[in-house]
Amino acid sequence: MSELQLGTYAENTWCKGCGNFGILSAANEAVKTLVDAGTPLETIVLASGIGCHAKLVDYVNVNSFYSIHGRVPPTITGIKLANPGLTVIGHAGDGDAYGEGLAHLIMSAKRNVDVTMIVHDNRVYGLTTGQVTPTSPVGFPGKSTPRGGIEEPLNPIELMLAAGATFVARGYSVKTKELAALIVAAARHKGFAFIDVLQPCFTFFNTYQLYNSRVYELEGHDTSNLDAAHARAREWNYGEGERIPIGLFYKVEKPTFDQRILRGKVLANEREVPDISGMIKTFA
Ligand code: SF4
Repeated sequence: MSELQLGTYAENTWCKGCGNFGILSAANEAVKTLVDAGTPLETIVLASGIGCHAKLVDYVNVNSFYSIHGRVPPTITGIKLANPGLTVIGHAGDGDAYGEGLAHLIMSAKRNVDVTMIVHDNRVYGLTTGQVTPTSPVGFPGKSTPRGGIEEPLNPIELMLAAGATFVARGYSVKTKELAALIVAAARHKGFAFIDVLQPCFTFFNTYQLYNSRVYELEGHDTSNLDAAHARAREWNYGEGERIPIGLFYKVEKPTFDQRILRGKVLANEREVPDISGMIKTFA
């Protein structure tokens, strides 16, 4: 593994025990693996939204963009379209991606934009000290729901399969080696690659015990079969005692949004920076 130093000047302010540390470790390993395999470091770009997850881009010494709440998908779409030679990886939280930014997430999957989207799914708004998100369980006693949340959580894996994502996976922040491998595979995938990461919020929703006792690795699963992927996704619908599969649920190759919109002039994931000066109009 490369000796690349990816640390930054920024002081890490996550709570002790936060699952974000595992995701940061996996993200660093993934960047090193990509660089070792020939991807120039300067062609890797990270973007984040708003929330505890978002600080990750301050802690990894690569080009990055700190965007706004729910807007990671359009941000990374824009970066990819402006420069298809880049490897673009977005990080978002569950409130960020499945709440404020849900329509953006669905549209990016539908369009098959050639980017990677990693959702730090702690099932709570941590930065604002503990409100319900779209993946919080029924009865969750958040700050905004002192008597317990009344809504059923959505299933992000099923949602992304239905929306047309061409790479759909789930990771767990404790299993950093497996998560790093998923991020590398997602970054190399041509198309919209989605990873929902189970990320315990140690302070406001500590799910370590739950996940440690239920999580298992998908094995012998046909990742080219959409029906099988849906069936595996339904194995965990937040029910009592249900096991939680992690790993790759689905992968398929389809034309990407950037290939289509650039009409084949620039192939996605080429490592050259295209000259797009002729595409920019100026108005005097
Ligand atoms: Fe992590 Fe939760 Fe603390 Fe945020 S509030 S840093 S998600 S443990």
